Amino acid sequence: MTYKPIRYHLYPNDAQRDMLMRHFGSTRWVYNRYISEADRLYFELGQYIKRDEFIVDLARLKKTEFPWLAEVNSQSLQMAARNAATAYERFFKGLAKHPRFKSKHSKQSFQCPQHVKVLFNESSSKYGRIVLPKIGSVKAKLHRRFQDERIKTVTITMEPSGKFYASVLLDDGKPNPQTDVITKERTAGIDAGIKKALVVYYPDSTTQYFANPHVLEKQLQAIQKLNKILSRKHVVSVEKDENGKERKIRHESRGYQRVKHRLALVHEKVRHIRQDYAHQITHRLANESQVTTYVVEDLNLKGMVKNHKLARALADVGIGQLYNFLAYKLEARGKNLIYADRFFPSSKRCSACGRIHQGLTLKDREWTCICGQQHERDENAAINLAQYPFWEENRREGRDDPKSVKSSPRVKDVGASALAKEVLQAEVLGSLEASAFRQG
Ligand SMILES: [Zn+2]
Repeated sequence: MTYKPIRYHLYPNDAQRDMLMRHFGSTRWVYNRYISEADRLYFELGQYIKRDEFIVDLARLKKTEFPWLAEVNSQSLQMAARNAATAYERFFKGLAKHPRFKSKHSKQSFQCPQHVKVLFNESSSKYGRIVLPKIGSVKAKLHRRFQDERIKTVTITMEPSGKFYASVLLDDGKPNPQTDVITKERTAGIDAGIKKALVVYYPDSTTQYFANPHVLEKQLQAIQKLNKILSRKHVVSVEKDENGKERKIRHESRGYQRVKHRLALVHEKVRHIRQDYAHQITHRLANESQVTTYVVEDLNLKGMVKNHKLARALADVGIGQLYNFLAYKLEARGKNLIYADRFFPSSKRCSACGRIHQGLTLKDREWTCICGQQHERDENAAINLAQYPFWEENRREGRDDPKSVKSSPRVKDVGASALAKEVLQAEVLGSLEASAFRQG
C-alpha cells in the first residue's frame, strides 16, 4: 500500500485552540513520562520495556492520579505512549540516539489515529472542515481533495509561528508491487552535490542536475539577515548578584520578540519549500521509466559535522528528507533504493578505469585521471554510485562484469538524520521503518 500525506491549514476558534493546546500538553506529558519510565526500567532495573504495559499504566493513571488526562482524546494519549516506546526501541537497537524529551518550546504535535473526518465543501470553495475527536469541527483550508483513499492517521501540529496544521496520511489500499531485480541497464546513481542539490546519472549515460530552487536561496539569505539583526537586538544589562559579583543579563526586548517571530515564519516557509521541492524531484525520479534502481550515498551526518561547510550545504538541501521520500515512492512502485557504503570512494574513484585518486580534495571540482578521462566531480560521483551494486558484487565474488545482481539489497533506514525527521511526519517514518525491518 502507498501512504501519501496531505497537509491542511487549520483555523480553530478560541475554544478549539484551547482544546488543541491541552492535547499538545497532555500528549507531551505522556511521551516524556514513558521515556523517563523506560530509562528507569533500563538503567535501574536492567529491564527491557514492554509497550503494552505502558498502555495499561496509562489507563490506570487516568482513573487515579491524573484525572485531567480524561479531558483529551484517549487514542492520542495512547499514540504518545506508543511513540515513546518506539523511540526507545530504536535507541535499544542502535538505530537512533537516546530519545529527547519533548519541550513546549519546540514544534508541538499529537496524533489522531481514528475518528477524524475531512468534510469538503460541496461548492468549489477551498474551505471546509476537519472533525477531530474531543475538539470538534475545525475550519480548514482544503486545497487538495481526495476520494477513494482511506485516512490512516492524522497528525496535528502547531508551528513555532503559532499556525495549526493537520497532516492527513492517506492509504490507497493497493498492495505494493514485487521488487525489481537490479540490473546495470536500469540503475542510476544520485550524488548530493555541494553546488547543485542533486546530480543524477541515468543508464542512458545522460546526467541531470537539480539545482536548489531560487526561492529557497532567498529565504536562506533572509534567515542569515534576521539572525544578525536578532543578535543586535539583545538588551544586556550588568547587575550584581548577592556575592557582589557582576553578571551580564540578557533581556528579550519587544523588538527582539518581533524579529524572533519573523524568523520563525521564515524557517517555516523554508521547511515547506524544501518539502514541496523534495516531493517534486522524488516524484519525477520514481516515475522515470528507464530506471528501476537508484543508488545514493549513505549519509553519515555525524561524520560530516567535522566538515561544517559540506554539512551545511547538505542540510540546506534537506537531503535526508529527500531520500526518505524517494525510499517510500520507489517502494510503492516496486523499485529499489540502495545506500552505498560510506567507505565507497564515490568521489575519488575514476568511473572510467576504477583507479582511486587519493589526492582529491573538496575544492577540486574538476580533475583528470591518469587514464586520460576528465571528470566533473559530482557527475563522476553519480556515475560511480550507479556502478556501485556491481562493484560490490565483483569484489565479493571475484567476477569481472556481472550483468545483474539477484539479491535485493535492503532499504536501509536513513531516518537517523535529525533533519529528515524534522519534517517528515512521524507516521510516515513509522511505516518506512516498518518496511525497512521487513526487508532487512
Ligand atoms: Zn581513470
